[in-house]
Amino acid sequence: MRVRFWGVRGSIPTPLSSVQIQNRIAAVVQRITARDVVSADSREKFLASLPEWLFGTVGGNTACVEVENANGDCIILDAGSGLRELGADIDRREGFENGKTYHIIFSHFHWDHIQGLPFFNQAYKTNNRIIFYSTNPDFENILSAQMTHPYFPIPMLGPGGFGAAMKFIYLDPDTTKFRIGTSVVGWYRVNHPGGCTAYSIQEKGKKIIYCTDTEISRDNFEQNEENRSFFGNADILIIDAQYTVSEASRKKGWGHSAFSLAVDFALFWQIKKLVFFHHEPRYSDKKLYTLKQSAEWHRGASGNNLEIEIAQEGLDLIV
Ligand SMILES: [Zn+2]
Ligand SMILES: [Zn+2]
Repeated sequence: MRVRFWGVRGSIPTPLSSVQIQNRIAAVVQRITARDVVSADSREKFLASLPEWLFGTVGGNTACVEVENANGDCIILDAGSGLRELGADIDRREGFENGKTYHIIFSHFHWDHIQGLPFFNQAYKTNNRIIFYSTNPDFENILSAQMTHPYFPIPMLGPGGFGAAMKFIYLDPDTTKFRIGTSVVGWYRVNHPGGCTAYSIQEKGKKIIYCTDTEISRDNFEQNEENRSFFGNADILIIDAQYTVSEASRKKGWGHSAFSLAVDFALFWQIKKLVFFHHEPRYSDKKLYTLKQSAEWHRGASGNNLEIEIAQEGLDLIV
C-alpha cells in the first residue's frame, strides 16, 4: 500500500505568515558562508544541510490522507482542505483518465475534516464515482448541509451539484469490517467530543491505522480482543499528537493527545512506524521537529526501534 499525506494540520488551515517566511530567509542567510556558494555542487550541499523545519514546511492544510491499495483503489481518509490539492494532483498523474471511483472515509464531521470536499475537482466530473463511508447514520445530510446557501454557492446534491455518481455507505455497528478492492477496512470508536472513528486498512499482511482526533485513554491500553485486533502490530499508525504534555494537561476533554502518550501507546501495541498527525495550528515547523526529537528521546529509553515521523504534506510512505 502507498500512503500520501495531503493535509496534516488540526483544527484550521494554517498557512505560513510573511513574518515566518522572512525569519526563515534570515536564518538561512545567517548560515551561509562564502564556501557554500562557490559552485552548484556546494550550493546543493548547503541546502541539503539545512534542518527540515527550515528548508520546508509540514504544510498548512487540514486532514486528508490518501491510501492506494494493490488494486489501484483510491481510498481517501477525511476531506480536510488537503483534498483540494489531492484532486489537482490526480489530474496531473501519468495515465490519468476520468471515470475513476474514489472512496472517501470520514472520521467525523468537524470542519477541519470536511471543508475540502466542496473543492474536490474530481467530484464535479460526471463520469467519476464517489463512495462515501461513515459511522454516522445521518452523514449524507451533514455533508450536503455545508454546501447550502448561505455557506456555499454550489449544492452537493441535485441539479448543478456534484456531477459524479455518489453512494453513501453507513457503517452500522454490525459492520465492523468492509472491503475496498483488495483491502479490508476496520473501524474503532475513539475518544473525542461528539465522537470520532479510527480506521485500519489491511492488505497482504500489512496494516495502516488512521487514528486522528483522539484523546488516548486508559481503555485504549486495555489488552482485550477488540484493541488487540485493531491496534496490534500495525506497520503505520497515523495518530493525533496535537499537544505537548503541559498543553494536554491544560486541555483535558478537548479530544486530542500529547505526543509522548502517542509514543507510549505505539510502544504498547508494537507499532512499527508512528506518524504524528493533526498538528496544533499554533505550533511552528521548528516546534514540531522539536517534539519529534523529544519523542525519540522518550522512545530511546524503551530500547524499542519504533520509527517516528512528523506527518507533512507530500510525505509518501510504502508498506
Ligand atoms: Zn480535527
Ligand atoms: Zn475533531
